[in-house]
Amino acid sequence: MVRELEYRLTPLWDGRKIPGMQVNIREDAPEIKKGGKLFTILENLIRYPFTCPREEIVVEDEKGEVPVMFEQEEKFLTRSQAAYVLRDTKGSVSLSYTCHFHEATGNPPYDMGYEGSGANGTGTAFLPEFTADRYRIRLLWDMSKLPEGWEAVTTYGEGGIDIEEASSALLYCYYYIGKICREEKENFGFYWYENPLFDGEAIGKWTMGLYEKMAGFFGDEGKTFRIFMRGNDRGQMNGMALPRSFILLYERDKKYGIDDFAGLPEGLLEEYDRDNYSWHNHMLTTLPHEMVHVWTTVPDEPFGNMTWFVEGTAEYYGLLLPYRFGLMSVKDALTVLNLRALRYYENPFADSDDYEPMQRAFGDSELMRVHYGRGFFYLTAVNRDIRRASENKLCLDDLVMKILECQKSGIEVTNELWNRELSAMLGCDSRPAYEDMRRGRLFVPDGTFLGDNIKVKETEGKTRREHRTCTVFQFTGEEKV
Ligand SMILES: [Zn+2]
Repeated sequence: MVRELEYRLTPLWDGRKIPGMQVNIREDAPEIKKGGKLFTILENLIRYPFTCPREEIVVEDEKGEVPVMFEQEEKFLTRSQAAYVLRDTKGSVSLSYTCHFHEATGNPPYDMGYEGSGANGTGTAFLPEFTADRYRIRLLWDMSKLPEGWEAVTTYGEGGIDIEEASSALLYCYYYIGKICREEKENFGFYWYENPLFDGEAIGKWTMGLYEKMAGFFGDEGKTFRIFMRGNDRGQMNGMALPRSFILLYERDKKYGIDDFAGLPEGLLEEYDRDNYSWHNHMLTTLPHEMVHVWTTVPDEPFGNMTWFVEGTAEYYGLLLPYRFGLMSVKDALTVLNLRALRYYENPFADSDDYEPMQRAFGDSELMRVHYGRGFFYLTAVNRDIRRASENKLCLDDLVMKILECQKSGIEVTNELWNRELSAMLGCDSRPAYEDMRRGRLFVPDGTFLGDNIKVKETEGKTRREHRTCTVFQFTGEEKV
């Protein structure tokens, strides 16, 4: 019998914005002995703290208040506080507290903040994690304090949630509250707040079309999928994927049309300036990348171990699929390819070893991005090798599908598994080339995943920051074959 967890969330209203939310949680009879762990709150995930001071969490059971003691736990990138009960609990245990929101942040949006008159973010900022592997979870909204017609949507859909999962499912879930506009079809939804500068309806429809085709490619079983728009004034245009959903950050004061999704601005490649380089992203590259994460994300522990696969496949299919589906021109595809080549091969860390600790990557966007280009270009080369070895009968799709099948059937996706399956397809040991990639040694990428007409040639470049001479690759080719 799985235990029950019932959540009641009451967003508050101060006449202008949603300053916070009242949270009430009831755990069905956990019967925890004195000294046992009741729950954990993520005090600091990446950099955003839990939005309620832990002393303000009131814990009660049938006998009244349950005294708890907090103890700090540290894991990579996160610091949490575990609550231990100081007496045996009796019957159901309830938690109640009020979280206080701040203004919604930029990337990564692991926070819960107000945005205009709405509020949105992830459960990591305001919900605790309980100790059992599985619960019957019910989440109810009390919208009585908000203006008429306001709603709440989560990764799981509109209104309440009723699932059987670990309680962490509610932490890695997106919450969107306010006056919500939407483009929906069955289990797909695209959400934004009213009166944006962008054309929500047209963009929502375009996104839905891309989603349907991608879901077909990855053999999705029609589970829910939701995209939430969050504006920012920091000039950020990127996103963060959570299970079955992602947050797309856009520049609030910029006018986005459907053209920004269906095409790239002119002269993008010519604008690349290694001395004044910043990671500027575009809808057409960001959105498909985040979408692919829903299907190809595998556990990446310790962090950095599988990042090349997670980000590499998102980059690879985030470019290949829109192109294959006719949603991206060959010209734009080549621009993306050439920009990525400059981003990766001129990255001052392009020759850095993957086995170095990843901790410092969070302070340096160049180091953080190394895995994207490394994984991506390695996969383009693997695709070439598989096609050669199989005389064009197989390609990277066959290998990735096989890996994802393994994941579905409960086999852990590891680098070992990758090399075993790849070696079998190639008929030779794939490890030397794989190790070269992980060690940051130079390898030749390939453009034929977009068509046999795409040629690659070696040129000379200079690394950013240090201006060391380095090898860069350039892609050319015109019509689609
Ligand atoms: Zn990504």
